Amino acid sequence: MLQPILTQEEKETLCGLVTEAQRVVVVCHQNPDGDAIGSMAAMTLLMRRMGKQVTGIAPNNFPDFLHWLPTADEVLMAFKHHDSVDRALEEADLIMMLDLNTQSRMGDLLGAKVEAARGRRIMIDHHLDPDIPCELVVSHPEMSSTCEVLLRVMADMGWTEGLTAEEASALYTGLMTDTGNFSYASNRPEVFEAVSVLLATGIDKDRIYRNVFFTYSEGRMRMMGYLLYVKMEVLKGMNAALITMTNEERKLFQVKNGATEGIVNLPLQIEGMKLSIFLREDTEQKGLIRVSTRSVDDFPCNELCARFFNGGGHKNASGGSLRMTMLEATKVVKEAVKAYSDKLADSPPAPLCERGE
Ligand code: 5GP
Ligand code: MN
Repeated sequence: MLQPILTQEEKETLCGLVTEAQRVVVVCHQNPDGDAIGSMAAMTLLMRRMGKQVTGIAPNNFPDFLHWLPTADEVLMAFKHHDSVDRALEEADLIMMLDLNTQSRMGDLLGAKVEAARGRRIMIDHHLDPDIPCELVVSHPEMSSTCEVLLRVMADMGWTEGLTAEEASALYTGLMTDTGNFSYASNRPEVFEAVSVLLATGIDKDRIYRNVFFTYSEGRMRMMGYLLYVKMEVLKGMNAALITMTNEERKLFQVKNGATEGIVNLPLQIEGMKLSIFLREDTEQKGLIRVSTRSVDDFPCNELCARFFNGGGHKNASGGSLRMTMLEATKVVKEAVKAYSDKLADSPPAPLCERGE
Protein backbone atom coordinates (compact mmCIF):
# COMPACT_ATOMS: atom_id res chain seq x y z
CA MET A 1 0.00 0.00 0.00
CA LEU A 2 2.81 2.46 0.87
CA GLN A 3 4.62 3.76 -2.22
CA PRO A 4 8.38 3.21 -2.31
CA ILE A 5 10.67 6.09 -1.31
CA LEU A 6 14.09 4.43 -1.63
CA THR A 7 15.88 3.83 -4.92
CA GLN A 8 17.27 0.39 -5.66
CA GLU A 9 20.75 1.75 -4.97
CA GLU A 10 19.69 3.17 -1.59
CA LYS A 11 18.09 -0.12 -0.64
CA GLU A 12 21.28 -1.95 -1.47
CA THR A 13 23.36 0.55 0.52
CA LEU A 14 21.09 0.25 3.55
CA CYS A 15 20.98 -3.52 3.30
CA GLY A 16 24.79 -3.65 3.16
CA LEU A 17 25.25 -1.26 6.08
CA VAL A 18 22.83 -3.17 8.30
CA THR A 19 24.07 -6.61 7.30
CA GLU A 20 27.68 -5.72 8.00
CA ALA A 21 26.95 -4.08 11.35
CA GLN A 22 26.86 -5.95 14.63
CA ARG A 23 26.79 -3.04 17.06
CA VAL A 24 24.40 -0.23 16.29
CA VAL A 25 24.02 3.12 18.03
CA VAL A 26 20.86 5.16 17.54
CA VAL A 27 20.97 8.86 18.39
CA CYS A 28 18.45 11.71 18.37
CA HIS A 29 18.33 15.47 18.92
CA GLN A 30 18.49 17.56 22.08
CA ASN A 31 15.35 17.92 24.15
CA PRO A 32 13.95 14.80 22.49
CA ASP A 33 10.26 14.79 21.58
CA GLY A 34 7.81 12.01 20.74
CA ASP A 35 9.15 11.68 17.21
CA ALA A 36 12.76 11.46 18.38
CA ILE A 37 12.15 8.89 21.13
CA GLY A 38 9.49 7.08 19.07
CA SER A 39 11.78 6.65 16.07
CA MET A 40 14.71 5.61 18.31
CA ALA A 41 12.51 3.04 20.05
CA ALA A 42 11.19 1.63 16.78
CA MET A 43 14.67 1.45 15.27
CA THR A 44 16.08 -0.17 18.40
CA LEU A 45 13.38 -2.86 18.37
CA LEU A 46 13.78 -3.40 14.63
CA MET A 47 17.55 -3.79 14.82
CA ARG A 48 17.19 -6.21 17.76
CA ARG A 49 14.64 -8.18 15.73
CA MET A 50 17.47 -8.45 13.18
CA GLY A 51 19.89 -9.72 15.81
CA LYS A 52 21.94 -6.55 16.37
CA GLN A 53 23.25 -5.14 19.62
CA VAL A 54 21.68 -1.72 19.94
CA THR A 55 22.31 1.27 22.21
CA GLY A 56 20.09 4.36 22.15
CA ILE A 57 21.70 7.69 23.10
CA ALA A 58 19.95 11.01 23.66
CA PRO A 59 21.82 14.27 24.31
CA ASN A 60 19.70 15.04 27.38
CA ASN A 61 16.53 14.13 29.27
CA PHE A 62 13.17 13.65 27.63
CA PRO A 63 9.73 14.20 29.14
CA ASP A 64 8.17 11.67 31.51
CA PHE A 65 5.21 11.13 29.20
CA LEU A 66 7.53 9.30 26.79
CA HIS A 67 8.98 6.87 29.32
CA TRP A 68 6.27 4.26 28.69
CA LEU A 69 7.69 3.76 25.18
CA PRO A 70 9.44 0.42 24.68
CA THR A 71 13.22 0.69 25.28
CA ALA A 72 12.91 4.34 26.41
CA ASP A 73 14.15 3.52 29.89
CA GLU A 74 17.40 2.12 28.49
CA VAL A 75 18.30 5.25 26.54
CA LEU A 76 21.68 6.64 27.67
CA MET A 77 21.98 10.36 28.30
CA ALA A 78 25.12 11.93 26.84
CA PHE A 79 25.22 14.61 29.55
CA LYS A 80 25.52 12.08 32.37
CA HIS A 81 26.36 8.54 31.18
CA HIS A 82 29.77 9.59 29.86
CA ASP A 83 31.57 6.25 30.06
CA SER A 84 28.87 4.03 28.62
CA VAL A 85 28.18 6.57 25.84
CA ASP A 86 31.89 6.67 24.94
CA ARG A 87 32.10 2.88 24.93
CA ALA A 88 28.97 2.42 22.80
CA LEU A 89 30.18 4.96 20.26
CA GLU A 90 33.70 3.50 20.14
CA GLU A 91 32.32 0.03 19.49
CA ALA A 92 29.57 1.02 17.05
CA ASP A 93 29.84 -0.24 13.47
CA LEU A 94 26.82 1.77 12.49
CA ILE A 95 25.43 5.05 13.86
CA MET A 96 21.87 5.94 12.98
CA MET A 97 20.88 9.57 13.37
CA LEU A 98 17.15 9.98 13.66
CA ASP A 99 15.00 13.12 13.58
CA LEU A 100 17.98 15.44 13.18
CA ASN A 101 19.67 17.12 10.22
CA THR A 102 22.75 18.90 11.59
CA GLN A 103 25.41 18.08 14.12
CA SER A 104 24.41 21.01 16.34
CA ARG A 105 21.01 19.39 16.98
CA MET A 106 22.81 16.71 19.02
CA GLY A 107 24.32 19.38 21.27
CA ASP A 108 28.04 20.12 21.56
CA LEU A 109 28.94 17.09 23.66
CA LEU A 110 27.20 14.29 21.78
CA GLY A 111 27.73 16.03 18.42
CA ALA A 112 31.51 15.99 18.88
CA LYS A 113 31.52 12.38 20.07
CA VAL A 114 29.45 11.18 17.13
CA GLU A 115 31.68 13.13 14.74
CA ALA A 116 34.77 11.45 16.19
CA ALA A 117 33.31 7.92 16.15
CA ARG A 118 34.54 5.49 13.50
CA GLY A 119 31.21 3.80 12.73
CA ARG A 120 29.42 4.28 9.43
CA ARG A 121 26.47 6.67 9.42
CA ILE A 122 22.85 6.77 8.36
CA MET A 123 20.47 9.68 8.71
CA ILE A 124 16.70 9.26 8.62
CA ASP A 125 14.92 12.56 9.04
CA HIS A 126 12.31 15.06 7.90
CA HIS A 127 14.04 18.40 8.52
CA LEU A 128 15.20 20.67 5.69
CA ASP A 129 18.83 20.82 4.58
CA PRO A 130 20.52 17.70 6.00
CA ASP A 131 24.23 18.44 6.36
CA ILE A 132 26.03 15.62 8.13
CA PRO A 133 28.27 13.42 5.96
CA CYS A 134 26.66 9.96 5.89
CA GLU A 135 26.78 6.74 3.89
CA LEU A 136 23.03 7.10 3.48
CA VAL A 137 20.72 10.07 3.98
CA VAL A 138 16.98 9.50 3.82
CA SER A 139 15.57 13.00 4.20
CA HIS A 140 11.92 13.79 3.52
CA PRO A 141 10.91 17.27 4.71
CA GLU A 142 7.48 16.85 3.12
CA MET A 143 6.67 14.04 5.55
CA SER A 144 4.93 14.49 8.88
CA SER A 145 7.58 12.93 11.04
CA THR A 146 10.72 10.85 11.14
CA CYS A 147 8.52 7.97 12.25
CA GLU A 148 6.61 8.23 8.99
CA VAL A 149 9.89 8.23 7.03
CA LEU A 150 11.14 5.26 9.04
CA LEU A 151 7.98 3.24 8.45
CA ARG A 152 8.30 3.88 4.71
CA VAL A 153 11.96 2.81 4.81
CA MET A 154 10.97 -0.34 6.68
CA ALA A 155 8.26 -1.10 4.13
CA ASP A 156 10.70 -0.63 1.23
CA MET A 157 13.20 -2.98 2.83
CA GLY A 158 10.59 -5.65 3.55
CA TRP A 159 11.12 -5.09 7.28
CA THR A 160 7.43 -4.39 7.92
CA GLU A 161 6.94 -8.14 7.45
CA GLY A 162 6.68 -9.06 11.09
CA LEU A 163 6.18 -5.46 12.27
CA THR A 164 5.36 -5.82 15.96
CA ALA A 165 2.75 -3.91 17.92
CA GLU A 166 5.57 -2.52 20.08
CA GLU A 167 7.38 -1.13 17.03
CA ALA A 168 4.10 0.19 15.68
CA SER A 169 3.18 1.92 18.93
CA ALA A 170 6.55 3.71 18.93
CA LEU A 171 6.12 4.80 15.31
CA TYR A 172 2.54 5.88 15.95
CA THR A 173 3.73 8.06 18.82
CA GLY A 174 6.01 10.05 16.50
CA LEU A 175 3.33 10.48 13.86
CA MET A 176 0.82 11.55 16.49
CA THR A 177 3.05 14.00 18.38
CA ASP A 178 4.67 15.66 15.34
CA THR A 179 1.23 16.37 13.86
CA GLY A 180 -0.44 17.52 17.09
CA ASN A 181 -2.66 14.46 16.94
CA PHE A 182 -3.17 14.96 13.19
CA SER A 183 -4.13 18.61 13.41
CA TYR A 184 -1.20 19.92 11.33
CA ALA A 185 1.44 18.64 8.86
CA SER A 186 -0.88 15.74 8.10
CA ASN A 187 -2.91 16.54 4.98
CA ARG A 188 -1.08 14.03 2.81
CA PRO A 189 -3.14 10.86 2.33
CA GLU A 190 0.06 8.85 2.91
CA VAL A 191 0.01 9.91 6.57
CA PHE A 192 -3.19 7.98 7.07
CA GLU A 193 -1.98 5.08 4.98
CA ALA A 194 0.94 4.88 7.38
CA VAL A 195 -1.44 5.03 10.36
CA SER A 196 -3.51 2.29 8.79
CA VAL A 197 -0.47 0.02 8.52
CA LEU A 198 0.35 0.69 12.18
CA LEU A 199 -3.21 0.10 13.41
CA ALA A 200 -3.27 -3.24 11.62
CA THR A 201 -0.76 -4.55 14.17
CA GLY A 202 -3.42 -4.16 16.86
CA ILE A 203 -2.11 -1.11 18.69
CA ASP A 204 -4.47 0.90 20.89
CA LYS A 205 -4.08 4.44 19.56
CA ASP A 206 -6.59 5.87 22.03
CA ARG A 207 -4.46 4.65 24.86
CA ILE A 208 -1.29 6.01 23.25
CA TYR A 209 -3.06 9.37 23.04
CA ARG A 210 -3.89 9.30 26.74
CA ASN A 211 -0.37 8.08 27.64
CA VAL A 212 1.09 11.12 25.92
CA PHE A 213 -1.40 13.92 26.30
CA PHE A 214 -3.37 13.22 29.50
CA THR A 215 -0.46 13.14 31.88
CA TYR A 216 -0.40 16.59 33.40
CA SER A 217 0.41 16.99 37.03
CA GLU A 218 -1.79 19.38 38.97
CA GLY A 219 1.12 21.86 38.87
CA ARG A 220 1.38 21.62 35.07
CA MET A 221 -2.34 22.29 34.67
CA ARG A 222 -2.17 25.33 36.98
CA MET A 223 0.99 26.59 35.25
CA MET A 224 -0.86 26.51 31.95
CA GLY A 225 -3.70 28.53 33.47
CA TYR A 226 -1.23 31.05 34.90
CA LEU A 227 0.72 31.44 31.64
CA LEU A 228 -2.48 32.00 29.67
CA TYR A 229 -4.22 34.26 32.16
CA VAL A 230 -1.30 36.31 33.48
CA LYS A 231 1.58 35.98 31.01
CA MET A 232 0.15 35.78 27.52
CA GLU A 233 0.54 39.03 25.64
CA VAL A 234 -1.55 39.35 22.50
CA LEU A 235 0.20 41.69 20.10
CA LYS A 236 -2.77 43.65 18.90
CA GLY A 237 -3.17 44.05 15.19
CA MET A 238 -0.36 41.58 14.48
CA ASN A 239 -2.26 38.35 15.10
CA ALA A 240 0.67 37.24 17.20
CA ALA A 241 1.04 36.26 20.85
CA LEU A 242 3.96 36.03 23.24
CA ILE A 243 4.27 34.01 26.45
CA THR A 244 7.33 34.27 28.69
CA MET A 245 8.34 32.12 31.63
CA THR A 246 11.20 32.57 34.07
CA ASN A 247 12.76 29.87 36.27
CA GLU A 248 11.28 31.68 39.30
CA GLU A 249 7.83 31.16 37.84
CA ARG A 250 8.60 27.56 36.99
CA LYS A 251 9.42 26.98 40.68
CA LEU A 252 5.99 28.24 41.72
CA PHE A 253 4.38 25.24 40.08
CA GLN A 254 7.00 22.61 40.95
CA VAL A 255 6.95 21.17 37.46
CA LYS A 256 9.55 18.94 35.88
CA ASN A 257 11.63 19.53 32.78
CA GLY A 258 9.54 19.12 29.67
CA ALA A 259 6.48 20.55 31.38
CA THR A 260 6.48 23.54 29.04
CA GLU A 261 6.01 21.27 26.02
CA GLY A 262 2.87 22.32 24.14
CA ILE A 263 2.46 25.72 25.81
CA VAL A 264 3.55 27.48 22.62
CA ASN A 265 0.68 25.91 20.67
CA LEU A 266 -2.07 27.27 22.90
CA PRO A 267 -2.34 30.88 21.64
CA LEU A 268 -2.97 29.59 18.10
CA GLN A 269 -6.40 28.53 19.34
CA ILE A 270 -7.38 32.22 19.38
CA GLU A 271 -9.35 33.04 16.25
CA GLY A 272 -7.22 34.65 13.56
CA MET A 273 -3.92 34.08 15.41
CA LYS A 274 -1.04 33.49 12.99
CA LEU A 275 2.06 33.32 15.16
CA SER A 276 2.83 32.24 18.71
CA ILE A 277 6.18 32.76 20.44
CA PHE A 278 7.16 31.24 23.77
CA LEU A 279 10.28 32.36 25.65
CA ARG A 280 11.55 30.46 28.66
CA GLU A 281 14.69 30.63 30.74
CA ASP A 282 16.84 27.56 30.23
CA THR A 283 16.87 25.40 33.35
CA GLU A 284 20.54 24.46 32.99
CA GLN A 285 22.37 27.37 31.36
CA LYS A 286 22.08 30.71 33.08
CA GLY A 287 21.46 33.67 30.79
CA LEU A 288 20.06 31.54 28.00
CA ILE A 289 16.52 32.07 26.74
CA ARG A 290 14.98 29.24 24.75
CA VAL A 291 12.64 30.26 21.98
CA SER A 292 9.77 28.25 20.51
CA THR A 293 7.60 29.50 17.69
CA ARG A 294 4.49 28.12 16.00
CA SER A 295 2.46 29.47 13.11
CA VAL A 296 -0.40 28.62 10.81
CA ASP A 297 -0.61 28.57 7.02
CA ASP A 298 2.30 30.19 5.21
CA PHE A 299 3.99 32.12 7.99
CA PRO A 300 7.67 30.99 7.94
CA CYS A 301 8.74 30.32 11.54
CA ASN A 302 12.01 28.79 10.33
CA GLU A 303 12.95 32.02 8.54
CA LEU A 304 11.94 34.10 11.55
CA CYS A 305 14.01 31.90 13.88
CA ALA A 306 17.04 31.94 11.62
CA ARG A 307 16.88 35.74 11.36
CA PHE A 308 16.14 36.67 14.97
CA PHE A 309 16.63 33.68 17.28
CA ASN A 310 19.77 31.82 16.13
CA GLY A 311 17.70 28.82 15.15
CA GLY A 312 15.52 27.27 12.51
CA GLY A 313 13.20 24.33 12.02
CA HIS A 314 10.01 23.76 10.10
CA LYS A 315 7.78 26.36 8.47
CA ASN A 316 5.11 26.09 11.18
CA ALA A 317 7.26 24.98 14.13
CA SER A 318 10.70 26.31 14.83
CA GLY A 319 12.95 27.23 17.70
CA GLY A 320 16.19 28.84 18.72
CA SER A 321 17.85 30.57 21.63
CA LEU A 322 19.06 33.98 22.78
CA ARG A 323 21.89 34.79 25.17
CA MET A 324 20.39 37.74 27.03
CA THR A 325 17.87 38.67 29.70
CA MET A 326 14.18 37.95 29.36
CA LEU A 327 13.48 41.67 29.01
CA GLU A 328 15.95 41.97 26.13
CA ALA A 329 14.58 38.82 24.52
CA THR A 330 11.07 40.26 24.72
CA LYS A 331 12.33 43.30 22.81
CA VAL A 332 13.82 41.05 20.11
CA VAL A 333 10.41 39.37 19.77
CA LYS A 334 8.70 42.73 19.31
CA GLU A 335 11.26 43.70 16.65
CA ALA A 336 10.84 40.36 14.89
CA VAL A 337 7.07 40.66 14.83
CA LYS A 338 7.38 44.21 13.51
CA ALA A 339 9.76 43.05 10.76
CA TYR A 340 7.15 40.52 9.65
CA SER A 341 4.17 42.86 9.97
CA ASP A 342 3.37 42.56 6.27
CA LYS A 343 2.74 38.84 6.77
CA LEU A 344 1.06 39.16 10.18
CA ALA A 345 -1.08 42.30 10.29
CA ASP A 346 -4.60 42.28 8.97
CA SER A 347 -4.81 44.14 5.72
CA PRO A 348 -6.16 47.60 6.55
CA PRO A 349 -9.95 47.63 6.48
CA ALA A 350 -11.51 49.13 3.40
CA PRO A 351 -12.26 52.80 4.11
CA LEU A 352 -15.79 53.31 5.35
CA CYS A 353 -18.05 55.66 3.49
CA GLU A 354 -18.12 59.01 5.22
CA ARG A 355 -21.37 59.36 6.97
CA GLY A 356 -23.67 62.32 7.14
CA GLU A 357 -22.77 64.16 3.99
P1 5GP B 1 10.47 23.30 19.87
O1 5GP B 1 9.77 24.61 19.82
O2 5GP B 1 9.51 22.18 20.04
O3 5GP B 1 11.61 23.29 20.83
O4 5GP B 1 11.14 23.08 18.45
C1 5GP B 1 10.37 23.00 17.29
C2 5GP B 1 11.26 22.69 16.10
O5 5GP B 1 12.15 23.77 15.90
C3 5GP B 1 12.16 21.48 16.30
O6 5GP B 1 11.53 20.32 15.84
C4 5GP B 1 13.36 21.81 15.46
O7 5GP B 1 13.11 21.48 14.13
C5 5GP B 1 13.43 23.32 15.53
N1 5GP B 1 14.39 23.85 16.51
C6 5GP B 1 14.22 24.01 17.84
N2 5GP B 1 15.28 24.58 18.42
C7 5GP B 1 16.18 24.79 17.44
C8 5GP B 1 17.49 25.37 17.40
O8 5GP B 1 18.05 25.82 18.39
N3 5GP B 1 18.09 25.39 16.16
C9 5GP B 1 17.49 24.93 15.03
N4 5GP B 1 18.15 25.01 13.87
N5 5GP B 1 16.27 24.41 15.04
C10 5GP B 1 15.61 24.32 16.21
MN1 MN C 1 10.29 15.14 14.08
